[in-house]
Amino acid sequence: MKLKVALLPGDGIGPEVIDEAVRILKTIGELCDHDFEFIEKLIGGVAIRDCGSPLPVETLDACFASDAVLLGAVGAPRYDDLPPDKRPEAGLLTLRRALGGYANLRPVVFYDALAPSSPLRPETARGADILIVRELLGGLYFSEPRGFVVEAGKQIAAYNTLRYETYEIERVAHIAFQAARQRRRKVTSVDKANVLETSQLWRETVTRVAASYPEVSLEHLYVDACAMRLVTHPQRFDVILTENLFGDILSDEAAVINGSLGTLASATIGGAIDLYEPVHGSAPDIAGRGIANPIGAIASAALMLRYTAHLEQEASDIETAIRQVLDAGYATPDLQSEATRCVVGTAEMGQLITEAL
Ligand code: ATP
Ligand code: MG
Repeated sequence: MKLKVALLPGDGIGPEVIDEAVRILKTIGELCDHDFEFIEKLIGGVAIRDCGSPLPVETLDACFASDAVLLGAVGAPRYDDLPPDKRPEAGLLTLRRALGGYANLRPVVFYDALAPSSPLRPETARGADILIVRELLGGLYFSEPRGFVVEAGKQIAAYNTLRYETYEIERVAHIAFQAARQRRRKVTSVDKANVLETSQLWRETVTRVAASYPEVSLEHLYVDACAMRLVTHPQRFDVILTENLFGDILSDEAAVINGSLGTLASATIGGAIDLYEPVHGSAPDIAGRGIANPIGAIASAALMLRYTAHLEQEASDIETAIRQVLDAGYATPDLQSEATRCVVGTAEMGQLITEAL
């Protein structure tokens, strides 16, 4: 298998965690005889510093010449006073738009070893293993018309539009069912079909797509019920498929099950080139100290193997290695609890996961 990866480490702890993700990928490459090629480019604050732009043309060209992009984080306090379109974050927003991914995937797993950091009781959350598939390019965030109503110089109203095209629902539904086929074969489609026309179209369309995946079971759930059951019965979910706004809220809610921002991974797929990045940001408060948790970045690399390279075994081997190292009581400082036996830094954590692999 040959895979060309554009590496965009970015700012803050980005380069530190991406180093560890690359270490894992190189190890997988050697163990399984895959040819992974890496090309590293600038994005964010470091790109402003060296090239005057948060997303240099050279970076974008390299992404389009690759099979996937693995990104660290962007943002640094020294750029906070720039206008929004000149800031490091603008580079990432432009990149996401250019790559065109319409499905945002966020896996959330409960780790027994991190139970003390989860707000849920271990008996409630044990075994929880959820994949949230969020539609990313439609709905309330993008639909027109939108705006303010001004009368006599005063804002008297504001409005947004929630619109979904059938094809937008179909394409993200296919992603969810394909993902469910590799998992426990259950999709929960989340909507508000008792109130919203878009949700009625969502429900009908997802039901139609489901017919192509007879091995996967489908249930529909209202978003309010889903929000509740995520914290009362998280084990009941496998793949959650939902629209943009609901997905934004539910993925943050689900994230706390796991107890740690530093371990969460994400994938944005379906567009021209797939984008993988840890959920956390640049964490300027701990950057340069070698203590950042690399698990979110390493788990993002595993997602890349699963969804872009279709190397399911290799992806799940990395996830098993992460679990084993956590179960053995190792923790970076952000994961430290009474269950921790040994506190390690970024590189040691990467090394331990590599050895487990
Ligand atoms: P950004 O603006 O880049 O998104 P942020 O201020 O939103 O940054 P994050 O970087 O996402 O914040 O993280 C919030 C806090 O969580 C950090 O300040 C840091 O202390 C902690 N944190 C985040 N990611 C990690 C990690 N990988 N390892 C350890 N701690 C982390
Ligand atoms: Mg942030």
